[in-house]
Amino acid sequence: MFRISQVTFCLLILCEALAAPHVPNSEGNRKMEMMRVTVRFSSGGVRSIPLEQYVAAVLAGESRNFRSTEALKAMAVAVRSYALHFRNRHRAAGFDFCDTTHCQYLQFDKVTPRLTAAATASESEMVWHDGSPAATYYHANCGGSTEASQDVWGSPEPYLMQRLDRFCRRGPRDVWQSRYSKDLVRRAMVTHGVDAPDSLESLEVVKRTPSGRAATLLLIGSDIISVPVSAFRIAMQKMLGWRSVPSASFDVKVEPGWFVFSGRGAGHAVGLCQAGAERMGLAGKTYQEILAFYYPQTIIGR
Ligand SMILES: [Zn+2]
Ligand SMILES: [Zn+2]
Repeated sequence: MFRISQVTFCLLILCEALAAPHVPNSEGNRKMEMMRVTVRFSSGGVRSIPLEQYVAAVLAGESRNFRSTEALKAMAVAVRSYALHFRNRHRAAGFDFCDTTHCQYLQFDKVTPRLTAAATASESEMVWHDGSPAATYYHANCGGSTEASQDVWGSPEPYLMQRLDRFCRRGPRDVWQSRYSKDLVRRAMVTHGVDAPDSLESLEVVKRTPSGRAATLLLIGSDIISVPVSAFRIAMQKMLGWRSVPSASFDVKVEPGWFVFSGRGAGHAVGLCQAGAERMGLAGKTYQEILAFYYPQTIIGR
């Protein structure tokens, strides 16, 4: 049973951890080892869980197919930092994290000894920036170039800048194509709160980010309406699934009655690219080197 006193206790511990300096010290380590977080499960109920078990469950949800142990450890540090950076998201509702991709996707039933070992091997370590845990965003595959946080969410961070990813380029490129009727695309927009012309005839990318990702679309038909690509993708994904437009790195071809989307990569492309991290690990890089590549100008420590 969930109790208010547990929440208060957890928040106190989290606040204490955040107040700690990012210089390694044994007292800080001890508090981190004790730390618990509260998770609300989609299946119902809120549970208090040791932080490191939470980290292992996110690894099971996000990275359980990694072959490189160093890449897994890099993810464990990123998952931990992300959790503590965003710990207040659900504060008003009385818990720390939900179990979906809104916070981080958890799969407790898929945790293996290898994933637990990756969490334990990097126990309490985080990515620090300016004395606080960094917003360590990560994604599946950047398609060859990561994206600046400013160009996705309008919030610049010095450690979330665009950079070429020479590592994931060496692996199989995540190239995708999807095809939807014009009417279905229009319905996706209208159903999920995006303005669209009464009859949709054409789509045109009119603005791209410096990395080449689509930023603004024109919806052309009985009217011409400008739409941020982020809103367009959310509407498409809610209606047609995550793989309908898996990244903003795409072109649109207009055919009679149909739109054909061709692109590469998967996810928002900000921060750590999981495909690239895996390639770095397999090439012999350490988890610290992987984190330093994807989160420059940060410090790794407890
Ligand atoms: Zn959440
Ligand atoms: Zn990449």
